[in-house]
Amino acid sequence: MKFRNYLYVFVIIITGGYIFTQINTSNKELENKKDEITKSDIANPIFANINQERIINADNEPGSWLSHGRNYEEQRYSPLVQINKNNIDNLELAWSFDMSSTRALESTPIVVDGTMFLTSEWSIVYAIDAKTGNEVWYYDPEVPKDWGRKACCDVVNRGAAVWKGYVYSATLDGRLIKLDAKTGELVWEIDTLIDRARDYTITGAPRIANNLIFIGNGGAEYGVRGYVSAFDVDTGKLAWRFYTVPGDPSLPFEHPEMELAAETWKGGEWWKIGGGGTVWNSIVYDPEFNQVYIGVGNGTPWTRVIRSPGGGDNLFLSSMVALDADTGKMNWHYQTTPGDNWDYTAVQDMMLAEIEIDGDKRKVIMQAPKNGFFYVLDRKNGELLRAHKYAEVNWATHVDMETGRPVENKDKDYLEEKQWILPGALGGHNWQAMSFDPDLGLVYIPTQIAPTIYKMTEEWQKTGKLKYKPNSWNTGVELGKYLDLALTTPDVPIPTGSLQAFDPISGETKWEVMYPQHWNGGTMSTKSGITFQGNGMGTLNAYDSFSGELLWSKDIQTSMLAPPITFMIDGEQYIAILAGTGGGNNHGGDTLGFHAEHLASLKYGNAGRLLAFKLNGELNLPRLDLLEKIIPEQPLLQSTEFQISRGTELYGEYCAFCHGTAVRAGPALPDLRMMNNDSHELFKEIVYEGILSENGMSSFSDVLSENDVESIYHYIVKTASVDRQIQLEQNN
Ligand code: CA
Repeated sequence: MKFRNYLYVFVIIITGGYIFTQINTSNKELENKKDEITKSDIANPIFANINQERIINADNEPGSWLSHGRNYEEQRYSPLVQINKNNIDNLELAWSFDMSSTRALESTPIVVDGTMFLTSEWSIVYAIDAKTGNEVWYYDPEVPKDWGRKACCDVVNRGAAVWKGYVYSATLDGRLIKLDAKTGELVWEIDTLIDRARDYTITGAPRIANNLIFIGNGGAEYGVRGYVSAFDVDTGKLAWRFYTVPGDPSLPFEHPEMELAAETWKGGEWWKIGGGGTVWNSIVYDPEFNQVYIGVGNGTPWTRVIRSPGGGDNLFLSSMVALDADTGKMNWHYQTTPGDNWDYTAVQDMMLAEIEIDGDKRKVIMQAPKNGFFYVLDRKNGELLRAHKYAEVNWATHVDMETGRPVENKDKDYLEEKQWILPGALGGHNWQAMSFDPDLGLVYIPTQIAPTIYKMTEEWQKTGKLKYKPNSWNTGVELGKYLDLALTTPDVPIPTGSLQAFDPISGETKWEVMYPQHWNGGTMSTKSGITFQGNGMGTLNAYDSFSGELLWSKDIQTSMLAPPITFMIDGEQYIAILAGTGGGNNHGGDTLGFHAEHLASLKYGNAGRLLAFKLNGELNLPRLDLLEKIIPEQPLLQSTEFQISRGTELYGEYCAFCHGTAVRAGPALPDLRMMNNDSHELFKEIVYEGILSENGMSSFSDVLSENDVESIYHYIVKTASVDRQIQLEQNN
């Protein structure tokens, strides 16, 4: 991708309390355009005319993939059966499209009228001919590159929505854009952010129903206050907004639910650090009850003793909340982790189903949030029906079905002493989609056994406080010295993962395929009894949904996170997936050397590609070469002990999330042990002055002094020298 200069023009028209930002197109032009569209409808049907009826009746056109989870139920279960257990041996590459990216690709494409709409790094939107893989158009919203620093988990995007001839997508810097589906032309864009000075980002896919676009945002670690908004598809006007956590208590409540929530926050000054509760991933519309379910994220800071020292559940953190789709008024809420203390978001994909439970058919909503319990709720009223463990859990013993609350394990309290805890901050399951086979009653979950060592920060231990740092993580736990923690804590398991077929009613794992590392892709299941998944080891696999038998496997040589989808064109069924890893695991690419051998993208690079397979496809994937990663000789430096210890801590705090713990980068971003002479010479200019800001590496002069940058440099060079020595010994 070429980085170009851009002009970022804001025309902010404040109308009736909401901010309407429009570029290129005036209201009048928009009205004219609408007239034109209405006139041309008569002659030609609207291209990509997805509407409510079509999504509700998605099973009538199984060849399309009409919304994020295929239909409103978001089970990621396709009725297509052409590719089946008897012929899957013949599944071969039909086409591939170069995404010109080495960053994480997380999008679920939409397929309608023979066209695939998807998103890429930096919120770029693509329309691809779904039969040939040729580009139809692409739209670059030109996200200011310095916004990249505000994203915890890289400059990713999980997809667009298509509605009545238009494509709607959100940008990393908080805009919602409307594009013409046929041409990719911008129709309008609006600003969804309440406070541009805070580090909000959007990486999630919008959902649409009742002609309203529902969108949330991310940024909890950096200190924001979560909310979800609904905007009119035609005008972009705000219809309603629901905050997930209370704001400044000296100001009036924005809506009555905030009064209820405020009673559960006690004694802290959370609003100064935002409070968190961001809705950064799952939003599901339910046509049967006209409800929108939102999955709410973790608290800011992570530690409840700082956030709310007087105790309390801190609503609506880590909750599933049902809102009236037309008004945004809350119908019910269920909190998975009262008083969240571990970054246990409940933003993971939610799916709707009708399941027989204890002899009755129940309309349920299901979720496997980070905290390790699989929740089945009655979606009419939020009644808790099941809460079995789906992953290894040691922070709580079980969920008390009488109270609906988890019973915490006091032995794992980390207030006084550090603790390794499962699930860790990456969750027993993260955003990577799960799928459901309603015939078998099984959910296919990309599961993680990835612990985090939680320890209160030294700052808190000394002062009892956490000073809010803008443009930085504000967790209250020791992340700067994480490597030391990992090396000095006995018995911490090495992170691994699995794909499991889980029965949400009995809590039984029907089958499980173990993986040597934890960061794998989402799943998709089909009526022919097959579940597809791309994994971190770089293989796209097809499993028998019933038995777990591996039916088909393709070595892509690129690690995958995104879920596969399926569609049909001209009588041929396709399986499509985006390859390219990174995201929330950038910090742990090769931490401590556990997974260098396992992550395909560390071995072969992280070449972002969109791949489509069909029966008797005629293309072969070109084989990628092993990367030669020889750490170069490092400059000879005289480092003081202080420089190394200070550099270690600062690196852990400011650099590790992108460039990897212990300077061992994941596949998506540069490994600083491999810096060339220019980078060595210009290190201060890069980090302090921001000369590479057009690549997303903006200046850190707001949080680091020149001496700090120098210390970080000394630490990097020392670490690279040590690793080089190890490498030389291994190669001998
Ligand atoms: Ca988080």
